[in-house]
Amino acid sequence: MERQRHIREILKDLRNIISHSRDIGVRYYCKNDLSKVAEIISLVKAKRAEKKACSVNLSNIKELSSLYELVRSCTLCKLANGRKNVVFGEGDPNSILMLIGEAPGREEDITGRPFVGKSGELLTKMLRAINIERNEVFITSVIKCRPPSNRTPKGQEIDSCLPYLLKQIELIDPRLILCLGSISSKTLLGKEEPLSRLRGKFFDLNGRKVICTYHPAYLLRFGGAKQIGLKKEAWHDLQMLQREYERIKRNRD
Ligand code: SF4
Repeated sequence: MERQRHIREILKDLRNIISHSRDIGVRYYCKNDLSKVAEIISLVKAKRAEKKACSVNLSNIKELSSLYELVRSCTLCKLANGRKNVVFGEGDPNSILMLIGEAPGREEDITGRPFVGKSGELLTKMLRAINIERNEVFITSVIKCRPPSNRTPKGQEIDSCLPYLLKQIELIDPRLILCLGSISSKTLLGKEEPLSRLRGKFFDLNGRKVICTYHPAYLLRFGGAKQIGLKKEAWHDLQMLQREYERIKRNRD
């Protein structure tokens, strides 16, 4: 067993070395070029140290308010430098349904609230269409600080922030989770498939049901037939969510 574990670690290191080699522009190796290999190994070690420094111990946190206090002063990744506000999330902390988006945008950063502005308005409408009010659910995102120019969050930023989201899920304990968008869906489910293949079905996540659909901002990006097609698919996902939400509520009451 120990030997197998050792081999697995060597293979993992090799994969990292090849990946970092590509990042710094290496396309092939000369077997005598040991200095380049040493450089790459030191890069891999630095990356590992960076990842370790970005981890946070949340095992003593038992209340959502204590978690909020920790997150609002968090500087684990570089996104802390550019934020106006941390966007922790809002809604009913006892809800059976949790919504998870990608990251705060400009409006969210200014107000400190999730899903405001145009995509927030659309989300509120989408929920109302299935008889759910915003204040009935808890809404948050994978990343709590705004990435510059609303760019997609980087892997290291997701790794740093994910423990906060997982702790929110643990404390709120929702029976149902709606992932909005590709980043949220892939991060939570640990899958690499495109959202078009993840949506339209339920996944089990430690006894919770997870369903994925398009992010409202993505639905707003297109017009014409493309938008109609995407909205139709999103509507299908929402109806699945509604049936499950009502079933769980009925059984709980
Ligand atoms: S994005 Fe998350 S990990 Fe990065 S500084 Fe903000 S709260 Fe901390």
